[in-house]
Parts: sequence; C-alpha cells; structure tokens
Amino acid sequence: MRFLLIFCCISIGFSALGQRNCGTPGYVREQVRLNPALAAAYASEGRTEQRGQTTAGEAQRDTLLNEVITIPVVIHLLYKGNEQNISDAQIRSQLAVLNRDYRLLNADTGFTPAGFKPRRADVRIQFCLAQVDPRGYRTTGIVRKQTNNDYFFADDGMKFSAGGGDDAWDTKQYLNIWVCNMFGRVLGYGTPPGGPAAKDGVVIMYDVFGTTGSLRAPFTKGRTTTHEVGHWLGLKHLWGDDDCGDDGIDDTPRQKTFNFGCPAFPHLSGCGSNGNGDMFMNFMDYTDDACMNIFTAGQKKKMRSLFAQGNVRNSFLVTMACDSTAAQGGPLPDPVPAGDVAGIKVFPNPVNDVLTISSVNAALLVDQVAVVTNIQGVKVLQQRLLHASNKISLAPLPAGIYFLRIGNSGKTIRIVRL
Ligand SMILES: [Zn+2]
Repeated sequence: MRFLLIFCCISIGFSALGQRNCGTPGYVREQVRLNPALAAAYASEGRTEQRGQTTAGEAQRDTLLNEVITIPVVIHLLYKGNEQNISDAQIRSQLAVLNRDYRLLNADTGFTPAGFKPRRADVRIQFCLAQVDPRGYRTTGIVRKQTNNDYFFADDGMKFSAGGGDDAWDTKQYLNIWVCNMFGRVLGYGTPPGGPAAKDGVVIMYDVFGTTGSLRAPFTKGRTTTHEVGHWLGLKHLWGDDDCGDDGIDDTPRQKTFNFGCPAFPHLSGCGSNGNGDMFMNFMDYTDDACMNIFTAGQKKKMRSLFAQGNVRNSFLVTMACDSTAAQGGPLPDPVPAGDVAGIKVFPNPVNDVLTISSVNAALLVDQVAVVTNIQGVKVLQQRLLHASNKISLAPLPAGIYFLRIGNSGKTIRIVRL
C-alpha cells in the first residue's frame, strides 16, 4: 500500500512537471492586487484618450492592410551556471519559431483539424533580433549577464539590474524577452498591454526556449514563447481563465478550462453547442508544443489592433531597430586579425598606453591620418602622422577592443587596449 502511494505521488509529480504552466494570469492578479489602478490600465490596454491622438515616438499613422509588422527583439539572458547560458544558436532558433508561427509558415499547420482550418490566420507579424541598441549603436540583440540569483519569481525581479536582472530597453521600440531560471513550474509569463513600461515584455524559462540545446520535453518546439508573446499582444487564454469563460475573440470556441498533453479531436468540454469542441491546438491553450499549431483570424485582428494609431504598440511601426544601416558608425570594419599592414609596424599589441606606428618607408605614413574606432564602429580617436615613427596615446580610452585604420590603406588592425 505504501509502495502504491509513493508510486502515485511520483506519477502525479512527473505528470505535473510535463504540463504547461503559464504564469500570466497569476502575475496579472498579483499586479492588480498591489496596485488596483492597474485594473483600468489593463482594461484600456494603454490606449491614449482619444483615437488618433498620438504621443512622441508614435507612428502618426494607422497600420496598413496586409502590412507585415516587424518587431525588434532584445534577449536579456540571465544565467548563473553554464547550462543556463544558452547559445546564440538556441536563441536564433526561437526567433525562427516566432517567425513561422506568426506567419502561418509552421510545418504542423497541416495538423489543424478540418473543422478549424478555415479559421487559421497569417498574423503578418515578424520578429528580428535588434540590430541597433537604444543609444543608436550596433548590437546583436542579445545581452548576456551573469547573475547571483539561483532563480527568479514571476514578480519582475529579472527586469531590473538592481536586483540581479537586466533593465528593459525602450519598450516602445523593442519587445524585451528575459530568459532565465524560473522558480517552480512556471514556464514563462507575458505582460498584457497597458502595464508599466519598465516591466513590459515576456519572460521565458531557459530550458523551454528555442528548438535546439538542452530542452525540457514536451516543450521543445519553442511554443512557450509563441504563447507568451501572444499575451504581450493582448491575447487571453481560450477559456478566459474562468469556467467556460470567454477570451473576447469571436472565432475561438468557449471551453471549460485548459487542456494538457495532446487530446484526441474532437475534445468536447460542454460549453454550448459546438461539434468541433475545444480548439486545444490553439497557441493560447496549455497543450504540448507539438500539439499547438493555430492562431485564428479573430486573434490576428485583436493582436494587430494594438498597432493602430493611438494604441499601445503603434510606435513599433516606426522603429528602425531591425536595420543595421541605421546604427551609428556604420558596419564594423573587417580587421586584419593580428600583426601589421604591409610595410607598417604597429606595436605593442596588446597595448597599455602608447602605441607606436612606424615604417622604414616614411612615405607610407607621413601626412596620413590614423583613426581609431571602437567595437560599435564609432570613431574615438584621430591623429595625423608626421614621421616615420609615431606615437599615439590610447590613455583616454577604456580597456577593450579597437580598430586602427591608417590613411587610405584600406586595411584595419585590431588593437587590444589593456
Ligand atoms: Zn498563458
């Protein structure tokens, strides 16, 4: 008997671990409990008072029919141990999932049951890793930061540098995604539109992010992020977080509650007459990654409405953060990895303070301009060379990697300042 009891407990434990757990409804309830004024802000979804009234940074225009909206994404990767410091490839695999699921390019769209297929929608929203940071410099769109925190709770601690997290980038221009170790069974949560700007974005557990690397079954297809970004775009769970509740979307049927695993079609949950039953394969249910494959036309309309003039995500229509040519300093030079340009010696490298540029052929250097740029491609120092041997002081520059270009030689030398 005791053995049976232990066995049962272990079984329940395992099945609970394999079930999706979205932190969004609990997060929203707690935020409203702490700050009751937020209830109205969430209800209005951050709309400005009158439609058409725009504020600084907004697009001054509405969305266009069929416009593909591009959203720059910044990943704040917070890790304690190496296993949490997931690879660039894993991060990129998650962006690829978003770009398939929000464009109806997911290979499993064929698994949508015939009764629901006519409701499928290409949301026409795409995502890029940001190419330009909020200061205007080039970026990879990935911020890696080691933290002392063993884990984070669904209380926004990961969104503030002061608490071992990382501050949000301008939430009018970037979708901020924090990837970290979450406490308990929560796989992630997303902020609904209308909340405080500094907390706006999505949080995802590191081992359910992307489709490659060490991932936790059955969350290996990146759908946790598809789901949480859905919340950030104003979607609710299909059951409206209530018994036979409503998500406010016309073409998603009411359902009694969430579905786990991957039910057989049709799964009837008895909320009104509907022969197709629950739309358990919708991205906003709790089914396994491999079971999800559809956003509906109604959900598309809801998400895109946030980008209309006067609405909370309108500013994304004018962000240029996906365009690397908009960055200060332009593209980074392609450096000579180490050593010297033909006929010119540059030493020492790495350098503490004073760099010497010399040549036996003075004509190669005299009257040429030496330009030093930083890793963002921004010019930080410039000096005209007057002799066959010249000294440049790098003392004003912080330690780091720089690029030295001499005249029009077309060659760039990588310099390490200690
Ligand atoms: Zn959710």
